[in-house]
Amino acid sequence: MSEAENRPTNFIRQIIDTDLANGKHNSVQTRFPPEPNGFLHIGHAKAICLNFGIAQDYNGLCNLRFDDTNPEKEDINYVHAIKKDVQWLGFEWAGDIHYSSDYFEKLHGYAVELIEKGLAYVDFLDSLQAREYRGTLNKPGKNSPYRDTSVEENLALFAKMRNGEFKEGECSLRAKIDMSSSFMCMRDPIIYRVRFAHHHQTGDKWCIYPMYDFTHCLSDAIEGITHSICTLEFQDNRRLYDWVIENVSVPATPHQYEFSRLNLEYTLMSKRKLNTLVEENLVDGWDDPRMPTIAAFRRRGYTPASMREFAKRIGVTKMENTVEMSVLEACIREDLNDNAPRAMAVLDPIKLVIENYPEDKLEDLIVKNHPSNEEQGTRIVPFSRELYIEAEDFREEANKKYKRLVIDKAVRLRGAYVVTATRCEKNEQGNVTTVYCNYLADTLGKNPSDGTKPKGVIHWVDASKSLNATVRLYDRLFTVANPAAEQDFHSVMNSGSLVTIKTAKVEPSLSKAKAEVAFQFERQGYFCLDNHEHGDELVFNRTVGLRDTWAKISK
Ligand code: ATP
Ligand code: MG
Repeated sequence: MSEAENRPTNFIRQIIDTDLANGKHNSVQTRFPPEPNGFLHIGHAKAICLNFGIAQDYNGLCNLRFDDTNPEKEDINYVHAIKKDVQWLGFEWAGDIHYSSDYFEKLHGYAVELIEKGLAYVDFLDSLQAREYRGTLNKPGKNSPYRDTSVEENLALFAKMRNGEFKEGECSLRAKIDMSSSFMCMRDPIIYRVRFAHHHQTGDKWCIYPMYDFTHCLSDAIEGITHSICTLEFQDNRRLYDWVIENVSVPATPHQYEFSRLNLEYTLMSKRKLNTLVEENLVDGWDDPRMPTIAAFRRRGYTPASMREFAKRIGVTKMENTVEMSVLEACIREDLNDNAPRAMAVLDPIKLVIENYPEDKLEDLIVKNHPSNEEQGTRIVPFSRELYIEAEDFREEANKKYKRLVIDKAVRLRGAYVVTATRCEKNEQGNVTTVYCNYLADTLGKNPSDGTKPKGVIHWVDASKSLNATVRLYDRLFTVANPAAEQDFHSVMNSGSLVTIKTAKVEPSLSKAKAEVAFQFERQGYFCLDNHEHGDELVFNRTVGLRDTWAKISK
């Protein structure tokens, strides 16, 4: 498939095609405008792939703009985390990073322009009164008594606001639009409020801050954004967006287009709620691998390509919907099946002693890193008389369906020999601790010459050369598909969302594992080394299991 054929199609791209075809625009400029009040989640990944993907495919540009008009909730650490996530997803923003706060002076100028045109006024209603005057969906609002203050007086009052002469909440600047509009956002919305807050970019320079609806459209215009793409909850606000653009002298006329946000089953997608999980230590930080944040998926071994593929598969529409977890997992599973090197790890080890193998012998077996991709080469896996195998891979007796090790039956040890179990030892609780077996010396890479038919293949590690490891198995964080619909999501948290296994034994080549780069642990699933500091300890996080277990769970 050519690159052009491989492009996604969606209604926004159709609009852009039309705009370019009929000369409305000659080039495309988009932006991704996160508020730096938390880490980005997979919903943002959808918006990133959409905005940056369009810029890429149309030879346009996409800005990264921090929408930073709420100084109290924002933090420079979020700015760093967001930049990292966008780059990790494989995208580059045009030129420098932008901040809405870069435009505070200009925005202030536009506010003054509205006042001069008689289209904005300083209002002194308190919050209770303001609510009463606003009306409801069924009842029109009433004009504020301050609505007809003269232009001169409003200019003076707004200057006083800027100078810090009013307290927080004492007054605000409102656009003079229409108190009887059926769109609540058009009922004289507040465009500036007083906040004596330190800002991560502008310090203490300002004590008035512009509201989102005023800031966003004007930032788009200042940056020459052609298509300003946002989620559906801003659909009504498009009236206000257009009103502001029409009523001040801006250098360009951006347009807003809305698409439906991503909802993912078993996941919360609001930064406010994710922040609660972090603040209450219900998870181990924003990048806890159970979180739906980009940083968490990275820490868990997801690849950027798998996240982009996910964004492509879910598409872009105006329909509200919730995506099944299995869609996301299929993307990473397919990627890792093709690309992840294989390795062996035993999570719940028991000893396997090969009684007819020389005691002092140690072989370096050469094992393929990938079953079908020769380019991934081979590695050396040590093999000797004592190995570890998975406890669940041995039974004293079993029926035909059990394709693993059974007494008097043969299995192949992955990449090594065929062995036949002879007997086992148990501890006081009756659990098997050691299995004894014999091996067929001529079966390395060959079928047994004596007609023995191995029942299956099991994985193993060498007992003396293997390394100890901690393995973390992650499950969904919530027990219900739509935790956001619960009154209190605390009551639907999955207490088994993290299982930590301290007993694992892994093959020595994994000492060179790199953080975030997943392996397939043969027969177990995909795992990557954790990206936090653990000293000499090897800690692996499960990316995803080998098969889809979600489909089963949700039925
Ligand atoms: P949240 O509700 O999680 O706090 P937000 O919309 O307040 O999200 P922003 O930082 O303002 O977060 O979002 C930046 C961009 O990402 C916006 O254009 C927004 O529309 C988009 N976005 C946010 N959440 C989603 C989502 N779930 N699906 C798709 N796009 C999203
Ligand atoms: Mg927001």
